[in-house]
Amino acid sequence: MQRYMIMSRPDENSRRLEEKTHKILAENHYILDKENPEVVFVIGGDGTFLYAVHQYVQKLQNLKFYGIHTGTLGFYTDYQEADYDEFMDTFLRGAYMEISYPLLCVHVGDNTYHALNEARIENVTRTQTMNVWLDDVFLEVFRGTGLCVSTQLGSTAYNRSLGGAVIQEGTNIIQLTEIAGIHHSQYRSLGSPLVMNENITVHLQSTDFRGAKLGVDSDIYPIDDLHEIIIRKDPEHQVKMLKGRKVSYFTRLKTLF
Ligand code: NAP
Repeated sequence: MQRYMIMSRPDENSRRLEEKTHKILAENHYILDKENPEVVFVIGGDGTFLYAVHQYVQKLQNLKFYGIHTGTLGFYTDYQEADYDEFMDTFLRGAYMEISYPLLCVHVGDNTYHALNEARIENVTRTQTMNVWLDDVFLEVFRGTGLCVSTQLGSTAYNRSLGGAVIQEGTNIIQLTEIAGIHHSQYRSLGSPLVMNENITVHLQSTDFRGAKLGVDSDIYPIDDLHEIIIRKDPEHQVKMLKGRKVSYFTRLKTLF
């Protein structure tokens, strides 16, 4: 791997580490290539990591991501700023493992989007009604603000704020959570988070999505004129991360709250 790119959070500290990293990589004959890098260094937080993956989502096949967090420990990064020397040394020695994470694939109208954390349908303008199918089984009519489908990696993000379960790494699932579901004598949906085998296809259908938005990680799309959304894991689109050290999942989790 000789061609690289660096994506960093726009704060002074992250920028300083970016400059230092450019210098070390140049000394080791690596070439900066924004268009076709083989490795993308991510300096910032989990949000920066998501941003970097989305910048290169069409070029994931030959690309690896390697992250350092300039805040606390992250879910997408194994190193903090104090570990910088180890972070670079591990890379230069090639003493890392590669781990792949399939993305969620979201089909809506003529478009396909990819999510590392989650895909969510939210309507804050009025009550959203949706039919929910899991594979070919009709589950329920949902009424409320919306629904969120998250990955294991996304379980600690928006999913957790919705009362969804935190899922340990290495567990291959997808999770469906409600966003302010309405439950009373007339309307009832499952209510609790549903953790499913990662091969399940979630099919959301509505006669009226006016006012609703589709959120795919940090990106938001209007879906007013559309009627169905299909969400499933996509083994063809995997994010490859370089892991140089073993950090316990529970250690990461403890830093979150
Ligand atoms: P963002 O600023 O990029 O991220 C918002 C916060 O979510 C940041 O503190 C970020 O951590 C953290 N985060 C992102 N992915 C995470 C993960 N897998 N596990 C734990 N924390 C994670 O905001 P954005 O661009 O609007 O949205 C990006 C993601 O943020 C979305 O995919 C969504 O899951 C999450 N989000 C959550 C809420 C909520 O919980 N109410 C609201 C909006 C967005 P760092 O500080 O390390 O970057």
